[in-house]
Amino acid sequence: GERLKAGLSRTRQQLGGGLASLFGRRRIDEELLEELESTLLMADCGVDATTHLIDELRRRWKRDKLETADQLQGALADALHEIVAPLEAPLQVDGHHPFIIMIAGVNGAGKTTSIGKLAKYFQAQGKSVLLAAGDTFRAAAREQLMTWGERNNVTVIAQDGGDAAAVIFDAINAARARGIDVVLADTAGRLPTQLHLMEEIAKVRRVIAKAEPSGPHEAILVLDANIGQNALAQVKAFDAAIGVTGLVLTKLDGTAKGGVVAAIARQCPKPLRFIGVGEGIDDLQPFRAREFVDALFA
Ligand code: GDP
Repeated sequence: GERLKAGLSRTRQQLGGGLASLFGRRRIDEELLEELESTLLMADCGVDATTHLIDELRRRWKRDKLETADQLQGALADALHEIVAPLEAPLQVDGHHPFIIMIAGVNGAGKTTSIGKLAKYFQAQGKSVLLAAGDTFRAAAREQLMTWGERNNVTVIAQDGGDAAAVIFDAINAARARGIDVVLADTAGRLPTQLHLMEEIAKVRRVIAKAEPSGPHEAILVLDANIGQNALAQVKAFDAAIGVTGLVLTKLDGTAKGGVVAAIARQCPKPLRFIGVGEGIDDLQPFRAREFVDALFA
């Protein structure tokens, strides 16, 4: 609760601070709703979610005869919760053995860091974890994963050079031989515009399905919250390539663009498995809609 609140402080200032200054001044009217619209857009809720929220607020304002700032803020929190609640779907890894998770995203989104945090998260649930160093483009990424694995006693399957599909194929077989519960497969960062690389990650997915016909059991796209509305295009592009089944939204702590969660919910809904609200190991948290909205307006 407290970590989440601290992590979301910049978005809270954007939304809550905007609201406070709006409401401090006068009663609710159309002009105020217009200013609120700008506030929501600046928090990166996007046009679609913002329009929906303002329409909803106008309806509630008239229907419920809202008068005070607290009442309007409560109505906004409720409307926002309604939008983002469908994204709450915690990742369950019990259905398959090993449960294979592939991780995709652009460079710097937080893939490798999130893999470390996820490994700890699953270990804390009593699961054994194996990492596949599938970012074969950057030697530093492999080193980062191997160092992390050594320090935390987690096996990392890596190759000098080689291609991602081969590393992950080996890792799945190793996991099966060792009775591992969860495989976390890293992949190289890439942009949606790098079509050959998007084709390459589609191939990685196909090779995983060769190693394990029921897999991958989860295809996670890691998104940096700072990219705001660009997240929508990334979800669509990666979804087309690998069939995204879940999202991790990192760096919510460094940004006032937390409203992007609402934009995702309206325009490209995918289960938001985890949100990153800091660099610490416990700062990757399962997304809980109510906690999230409460932290924004607390
Ligand atoms: P990758 O290229 O996608 O593997 O990205 P990395 O995992 O190397 O992360 C890039 C940077 O983002 C690193 O400095 C991480 O510590 C940082 N980072 C990742 N997640 C978060 C987060 O939730 N909050 C903050 N503040 N930093 C993060």
